[in-house]
Amino acid sequence: MSWGRVRLVGVGFLPGWLLRVDLPPKCSKGRPGRSTFITHREGGPGAVSVGSFGDRAEDGTWFHTSMRWQPQEERCAECEFSWTIEPEESIALVDGSPPRLASLIVGAERATDRPAEGVWSPSEYLWHLVDVLRIGRERLLTIATDPTAGIPCWDENALAEVRNYGALSPAVGLIAYEGVVGEWVATARTVPAGASVEHAQDGTMTAGDIMRRNAHEVAHHELDIQRGLRSKPV
Ligand SMILES: [Zn+2]
Repeated sequence: MSWGRVRLVGVGFLPGWLLRVDLPPKCSKGRPGRSTFITHREGGPGAVSVGSFGDRAEDGTWFHTSMRWQPQEERCAECEFSWTIEPEESIALVDGSPPRLASLIVGAERATDRPAEGVWSPSEYLWHLVDVLRIGRERLLTIATDPTAGIPCWDENALAEVRNYGALSPAVGLIAYEGVVGEWVATARTVPAGASVEHAQDGTMTAGDIMRRNAHEVAHHELDIQRGLRSKPV
């Protein structure tokens, strides 16, 4: 199990000290094992990072699982996504996702409620997917137009905080999501699946790998959204 960087904040001096595990940035998903989030509030309002458990808690709620790039595995242990699907299947999965997400979120009373402290609401996951696919398309464009530039890591929690996902409209998120899906699919259909680029952490990555990775994000967070909408109010 990977525990990330553990640090004590204000132990013995400040009220409400926190034991915190810093989640790795987005492109650390390739690390084996799971990182576990313990508690996570510091700073002012909105300064909340999202944790990672990946298991059902005693009260029946589900917690966000840190997504990982696991091409060596056959399936994701949680959402059962197949890591061996073909690029065309990845494109089809992403292409068909806007109506699925809309059917979950439109009219949902708890779309903006967090199912547990530190766990993203369905709307926050939706906005996360908007950024996942926008960045994923940019990565595919990097392969197509300037592969020597390589692709850097990005920090999903930092982006969520500066974008203030929690204050954004889920209705607008669905419109934005449909737009980025259209752009992502159009680009994915033009980039040769075998063309590659160097990822800052995970080494050589093909366009097919990026498509599969993005498709997993969509499938896995669709599950997270379903869990969030089913959870009990806290
Ligand atoms: Zn998964």
